[in-house]
Amino acid sequence: MNLFDSHCHFDFAVFDNDREAIWQKCNQLGINALMIPGVAPEQWQIAANISAQHSNIYHGVGLHPWWIEKELPVENTANYVSDIREQLQQKISLSKCRAIGECGLDASIETPMELQQKILDVHLELAQKTSMPLIIHCHKAHNELCEQLQVHKFSVGGVIHAFSGSYELALRYWKMGFRLGIGGIITYERANKTRKAAQQLPIESILLETDAPDMPIYGKQGERNSPENLLVIAQTLSDLRNVTLECIAEKATSNARTLFKIN
Ligand SMILES: [Zn+2]
Repeated sequence: MNLFDSHCHFDFAVFDNDREAIWQKCNQLGINALMIPGVAPEQWQIAANISAQHSNIYHGVGLHPWWIEKELPVENTANYVSDIREQLQQKISLSKCRAIGECGLDASIETPMELQQKILDVHLELAQKTSMPLIIHCHKAHNELCEQLQVHKFSVGGVIHAFSGSYELALRYWKMGFRLGIGGIITYERANKTRKAAQQLPIESILLETDAPDMPIYGKQGERNSPENLLVIAQTLSDLRNVTLECIAEKATSNARTLFKIN
């Protein structure tokens, strides 16, 4: 069995002491490919180094809304945005960079939505230009996101990571060329809407992810999440859909490899 963790912050410092040991355990469990999203310029090279050292680890470059400069004087916005564009353009050519992101919109943080949208514009333009898929973080801003994708006539696709929402919303993204990143949320019984969506969506639209070290699975709240837990998420999805674990693994892994253009 081969499982692909399509969203894991494996570069974060909380893994510095036992990263190799975790990766060995993952491999024993059949979790043998992983995507490290980009979150901020100072972290891109770290992620690139980790992916360069491991045969099935890949990375993205992007500026996550939480890492957008908060104390930016308005008059400096244009410079900041063009500086981010330039830095992204430089790093995108790294050999194991297979995605742009994570980037997106988050209505629950203080960073002005207008600035978030400008930064997302940069990612959309670059993805469109290079035909690289996007990894999108969207929290409480789905209407804004859909509108922005439509304005750009965005056609390259990508993944809406940590998808939490209804079947209808998921389908709307799928029709716009996006896959849905299904993660630990489906291990919580109270996450009815998302569990139902995960049950009903076309299997071709689904990627599996842990979002480790965040998003702990049910029963492990308060602990550091680990890519090892991808197996539990895959098992939960196979139970929900009433198909074998092997079937889920095969389809979801092939979806991830197709999206990130990995042979
Ligand atoms: Zn993330």
